[in-house]
Amino acid sequence: MQKNFAIAVHGGAGGDSDFIRSHLEAYKEGIKEAVSAGYAVLQNGGDAAGAVKAAIIKLEDNPLFNAGRGSALNENAEVEMCSSIMDGTKMKFGATAIVRNVRNPVELSAAIMENSEQLYLGDDAATRYAEKMQVKMEPAAYFITDHAYEDHRKKMEELNKATAHRSHGTVGAVALDAKGNLAAATSTGGAAGSKAGRIGDSSMIGSGTYANGTCAVSATGDGEYNILYVTAFHIAALMEYKGMSAAAACSYFIDQKMKGINADIGMIVMDKAGEVHLDFNSTRMFRGWQKSNGPVNALVYKDE
Ligand code: ASP
Repeated sequence: MQKNFAIAVHGGAGGDSDFIRSHLEAYKEGIKEAVSAGYAVLQNGGDAAGAVKAAIIKLEDNPLFNAGRGSALNENAEVEMCSSIMDGTKMKFGATAIVRNVRNPVELSAAIMENSEQLYLGDDAATRYAEKMQVKMEPAAYFITDHAYEDHRKKMEELNKATAHRSHGTVGAVALDAKGNLAAATSTGGAAGSKAGRIGDSSMIGSGTYANGTCAVSATGDGEYNILYVTAFHIAALMEYKGMSAAAACSYFIDQKMKGINADIGMIVMDKAGEVHLDFNSTRMFRGWQKSNGPVNALVYKDE
């Protein structure tokens, strides 16, 4: 018997901007395109890990989102990306940090999960493994969009005046397939103007990404806080050990655990029944989802 399946994605939680307001429809289209790519995998009998990978590739290829093409630039105006993927049934993961030139870091993470004995590769080791696995590579210029460059320029000006506001973004996906497998994946260009070599939460299992037999979680926001609070695992633990619903776990985490903490935090959660919960404490989180035989949804702000 065909069981429920579902996919949800996020395109990062954070503040609003004129750029976002003037590209709102394009952001929503990008989210819907990613949801549909993941949904198609599930509908054709593919597994949850394949679905999250397909969804993230769409977002990495879309220059509007801070992952793959369109990644934030670090202090040296270079792109360094991080990503991870986790299969909750097999309890397997693959992760990459400080990745350069790899068109789709999530593809590299998936190749690591499927083929490598060592599961978290960074910097040159990640590049060498990408070459070995014949993952698609691009020249540095491919990743740098006008928008990311302008963001970087402003950020460096602010940093020099020490009035910096945080500027970041990420993409993520969670899925349940018809066989009941859960998977999560996250991919990012990191935070604009950050130190070269900075590693955020997105590549870290437990912080940015987590999946087991109970749920799949992808987190976004200020990476240092997601590392500190082990956000993705935190949610999974509340659900597994305390029997909380995804909504109750997210609300406990955001409203009580993170209370008074000045950080943008967002997460998307899929439970084993295919219920989706998407939560955040920031002004907006690009997000979308689709459940079996349901419509594609895409939202940006809280009260839409
Ligand atoms: N968490 C990402 C990072 O810190 C950024 C984001 O999700 O907005 O690298």
